[in-house]
Amino acid sequence: MSAETAPPLYPLFADLRGRSVLVVGGGAVARRKAEALLQAGARVIVNAPALEPDLAAWASDGRITHRAGRFRREWLRGAWLAIAATDDPAINREVAEAAEAQRVWVNVVDDVELSRFQVPARLERGALQIAVSSGGGAPMLARLVRERLEAQFDESFAALATLLARRRARIRARWPDIGARRRAFERLLTGPLQGLLRRRHHLEAERLLEAELRPGDDSGSAAIGSVALVGAGPGDPGLLTLRALRVLNEADVILHDRLVSAEVLALARRDAERITVGKQAGDHRTTQARIHALMVEHAQAGKRVVRLKGGDPFVFGRGGEELEHLRAHGIDYEVVPGITAALACAAYAGIPLTHRDHAQSARLVTAHCKASLDTLDWAALAQEHQTLAVYMGVAMLDTLRARLLAHGRDPRTPFALVENGSRPEQRVIAGTLDELPALAERYAVRAPALLILGEVAAFAQTLHWFGAAPLGTAVAGGSPGVLDEAA
Ligand code: SAH
Repeated sequence: MSAETAPPLYPLFADLRGRSVLVVGGGAVARRKAEALLQAGARVIVNAPALEPDLAAWASDGRITHRAGRFRREWLRGAWLAIAATDDPAINREVAEAAEAQRVWVNVVDDVELSRFQVPARLERGALQIAVSSGGGAPMLARLVRERLEAQFDESFAALATLLARRRARIRARWPDIGARRRAFERLLTGPLQGLLRRRHHLEAERLLEAELRPGDDSGSAAIGSVALVGAGPGDPGLLTLRALRVLNEADVILHDRLVSAEVLALARRDAERITVGKQAGDHRTTQARIHALMVEHAQAGKRVVRLKGGDPFVFGRGGEELEHLRAHGIDYEVVPGITAALACAAYAGIPLTHRDHAQSARLVTAHCKASLDTLDWAALAQEHQTLAVYMGVAMLDTLRARLLAHGRDPRTPFALVENGSRPEQRVIAGTLDELPALAERYAVRAPALLILGEVAAFAQTLHWFGAAPLGTAVAGGSPGVLDEAA
């Protein structure tokens, strides 16, 4: 029967503890198969004229049994499964046919026709296992799907599986009716339990489950929402963390800044409610008050809220204030860090923020208004051999230059202005401190842009790799011919 018309395989998870399995073959593939079988508690018998080193070691310390010499069909006697993993097609066929005749389930590695069972690609989270099969026809595809799933299910699922398994009898007793049980699970599994496990608050998770298991009124007992404060990174969705992706997948409501890219938002759960709360030129205080109110309102309504911020939530993102507000209202929260603009822009412009020869420290500075500039320690900032990463500084470049020069920073200090860092429309303008405001104006630099100032910024000329080469003049060490205005 051809693969296209064959009925689907019947999946099963086999308990192999103490059961014999014959593996024919003594190379690396056989070793991998033997290892997985040992993990499942099987009694593994390996048949091959010679064994690769691991298999040989396992045979000599008794973890596996070695049958030397050529395959003999009587070795299948007593086996529950057989795996043929030799590089000799004739032997593989012989094993397959002998196994079939003796009703032993057989898998021939990389041979769908001869195999009577397939070994899926799988993901293990403790007792929770997810197996993926393409019916043997496209194992690479199964592996790819497995990798995707890998990103979706973190280690907290292992703890969840253990927790639920331990309470299984009590859960059944508490909700004997299957419908009620299903509803209870829906509440449990979409509620705060998972978040507690992810934060490694195992005791609290147990307590929460205990509270649920106490007989009483079912209505709304688990309708406790939570807020995840999540860093969305600078724009390239590839820079999201796996955890950010997971919480975005579980979100009911997403409160996001304007700065968060559309590509990142596209990764969130489809039916999540998305609310733009980004700051506009207007009154920042009302915006922030509205964000606070929305977080509390939705969390109190039992929703899983994701507060999604550009970059990292704790770097010039008012994440601290938002957590204080949540804490004051007794709302559960977690924080998922993101790649902050300084790290992303430096990386995507080819600028190492520190360098043994050029910069021993890097500072994150914000310069969004006169008041914020007045509080900075300019003498310290003007010192050489350090890198400044200036956030929200586009409008203040004149003042920035004047103060740094006044405090003695060399006018030839290189800078790179990275606009829309990591995004398809990224531009890098590079030059020296002296000409900073003029170049920014010439190239009409707009927010979001990050200023990197310091000796290391010169590397943008040679190490750039993403998008176009830097615009502006060539700097210290670079050849003056690298004027690149046409790009
Ligand atoms: N929490 C954010 C920063 C918020 S302040 C973070 O950790 O990155 C906003 C400032 O960040 C912008 O004015 C700009 O200076 C910088 N910024 C954010 N994303 C950027 C990007 N993709 N490219 C350049 N600068 C960016």
